[in-house]
Amino acid sequence: MISSGVQAHSAPNAPKAMTVPEGMAAFGWDFDSADVKVQELGDGLFVLFGLGGNIVASIGPDGTFIVDDQSEGMIPKVVETIGDLGGDDVDFAVTTHWHFDHAEGNLALGPAGTWLVAHENSREMMKENHVVNMVGLAVLQEAYPESAWPDITFDSSMRFHINGQTVDLMHFGPAHTTGDTAVYFREANVLHMGDVFNNTGYPFIDADNGGTLDGLIAFCEGVLTAINEDTIVVPGHGSTASTAEFARYTRDLATIRDRLTEQVSNGLDLDEIIAAKLTSDFDETYGDNTMFINRAVKSLTYRYHP
Ligand SMILES: [Zn+2]
Repeated sequence: MISSGVQAHSAPNAPKAMTVPEGMAAFGWDFDSADVKVQELGDGLFVLFGLGGNIVASIGPDGTFIVDDQSEGMIPKVVETIGDLGGDDVDFAVTTHWHFDHAEGNLALGPAGTWLVAHENSREMMKENHVVNMVGLAVLQEAYPESAWPDITFDSSMRFHINGQTVDLMHFGPAHTTGDTAVYFREANVLHMGDVFNNTGYPFIDADNGGTLDGLIAFCEGVLTAINEDTIVVPGHGSTASTAEFARYTRDLATIRDRLTEQVSNGLDLDEIIAAKLTSDFDETYGDNTMFINRAVKSLTYRYHP
């Protein structure tokens, strides 16, 4: 919802939206030359790194269960890699959220007979066009055909029992998007966080589609109560991390959130908040803050000036 209070705060107009293929080209993605790299986690679990969000695959006697499916263009290489690892057709594909770099593989897997699983809100988002505004660029993600919509959805939690694993799907409210899922393989002690945990820099918050910094932190805090100190944490992007590293990310974001909140609640606008350099002691760790600050402030502005 847009209200007059939001308009009082300056924010640059969203850049003109590209198509998803144009966006992928802007990222420098080339499916023909891309490799799928594999990290073995034990207990039949693997991380597949390709182009887009990290995939976790559970391969075993009950079948093949994956978390996130990247892009339609990557699916042939992903399926080939799963075959090399002893898997067969993908039986279940959970998508951590609806963004194209995590869920567009549904376009291939759905018609192939894979059971598609996601949070209820992600299914709703896949049914319509949405612009994903990443500040430097924006992408129009078009509605998927019905064959790519999740077949099975959940609201707050759902559990699978497959390949000797108790697999918990958890949702703690709007965070990176409104439809995020964390997937925890209890026996293997492996967690996939989707883009609620970015291990390549500051997180992206899809504030134009209901994501919030407050919610992202609360989501991480909720997940941290469910895992333990030995959990292997797979982020949406970047290398796997320890629970301690994931907890530090959560704490750092909470510190930054408190600083931003003070400025937003005092009525400062985006340009003034950028000029205050509130993340300077974290930028060495997380890198460029341009997109993060813009989207975080937007989500906090909704909270204080609805
Ligand atoms: Zn995302």
